[in-house]
Amino acid sequence: MDCLFCKIVAGEIPARKLYEDDQLVAFHDIGPQAPVHFLVIPKRHIATLTDLDETDKALAGHLLYTAQQLASEQGCDEGFRLVMNCNELGGQTVGHIHMHVLGQRQLHWPPG
Ligand code: 5GP
Ligand code: ZN
Repeated sequence: MDCLFCKIVAGEIPARKLYEDDQLVAFHDIGPQAPVHFLVIPKRHIATLTDLDETDKALAGHLLYTAQQLASEQGCDEGFRLVMNCNELGGQTVGHIHMHVLGQRQLHWPPG
C-alpha cells in the first residue's frame, strides 16, 4: 500500500520517533507549527476518522491517552492542543489517521 505513514511505521521512511509500542508510533512533524509538534498514529492503516468502528474504541482511547502522556513528557503541562483533521474539508493531507500534538506556544481559537 502506498501510504506515507505506513512506510514510517515500517521504517522505510525515516522519522524522528519519540514513542513506539505494539499499537502506536509517535514522531515529530516534518513541518512543525509550534515548538512542540508531533504526531501519534496507529500502526495499523486506518485512512481517516470516519473509518473507525466499534472495535477501534480501545485503540482510540489508547491514542488519546498516549498523546496526553507524551505532551507532558515534552514539557507541555501549561497546555497543549490535540488535532485530528478528517478528510478534505477537515484539512487532512495524509490518508492515515494521525493526532497532532501542539504545544510550547500560545495557541489561538478559532483555527483557520
Ligand atoms: P494533516 O494535514 O493530514 O492533518 O497532517 C499531516 C502532517 O504530516 C502535516 O503536519 C505534515 O507536516 C506531516 N508530514 C507530512 N509528511 C511527513 C513526513 O514525511 N514526515 C513527517 N515526520 N511528517 C510529515
Ligand atoms: Zn497507512
